[in-house]
Amino acid sequence: MWPEATRTGEELRESGAGMTRHGAKRGWYGKMVGAAFGVTVLAAGASVWTAQAGAVGSPSPHAAASAAPVSEVTPVDVTIAHSSDKGENGVNITIDDGPDPVWTPQMLDVLREYGAKATFCMVGTQAQAHPDLVKKVVAAGHRLCDHTVSHDTTMDTKPQAYQSQQMLDAERMITEASGGVRPMYYRAPGGAFTPYSRKLAASRGMRPLGWNVDTKDFERPGADAIVATVERELPNGPTLLFHDAGGDRSQTVDALRRILPRLKEQGRSFGFPVR
Ligand SMILES: [Zn+2]
Repeated sequence: MWPEATRTGEELRESGAGMTRHGAKRGWYGKMVGAAFGVTVLAAGASVWTAQAGAVGSPSPHAAASAAPVSEVTPVDVTIAHSSDKGENGVNITIDDGPDPVWTPQMLDVLREYGAKATFCMVGTQAQAHPDLVKKVVAAGHRLCDHTVSHDTTMDTKPQAYQSQQMLDAERMITEASGGVRPMYYRAPGGAFTPYSRKLAASRGMRPLGWNVDTKDFERPGADAIVATVERELPNGPTLLFHDAGGDRSQTVDALRRILPRLKEQGRSFGFPVR
């Protein structure tokens, strides 16, 4: 179940178990991001954004020359979305932390096999490193979600300038990697939203995105346990959380191969989180 605070629109924090999982993950990203980018992303982010934002996602060269980035997006609601655009029988598959060259293609295969659409919450540096995968995700009809540059699960304790850099740089990286398709959602790492980050995301057309069922696939509990968690907790709500990066995700692939047909048998349809 969601903490009561989330239901009332207050800030969202994960449970203790969730923090342990994300704590382990942070080490992985810290190493990767530090090695690949150091502080240059922080320093260059603003100017790159200004220089390229007009060209990204614009419908024509004329618009690219004149339109300011903000004018190209339609603001969405600032509250954290959980429900499905397919209504009561909808299920939202959400897949975080990629794209990853080993696991994302396997997830795409399973999703295609069962006609399921998913929302991929991508880390900016991962998207930048694997633009081919971002384009494949979009071409298959899935949606993109901004999951920040560095996957800092303590973002809610950081200054607003840091939060905006993390969010807007990732938005730019993902949009460039996709060939101009913008992320439609924003999911704070570890659920570390703030009123400021939700408002900023919404102003950029990215609906803050929560989840109802944490499959804890990141802890590698076994495919059986992942399947069981989904079956047990689906009454909590339609948005399921999986991962396609950060380690061996074969259990997640196996679990999805069993969960997706079962959901179809139960009369569920695969949808997207509401915007
Ligand atoms: Zn994540």
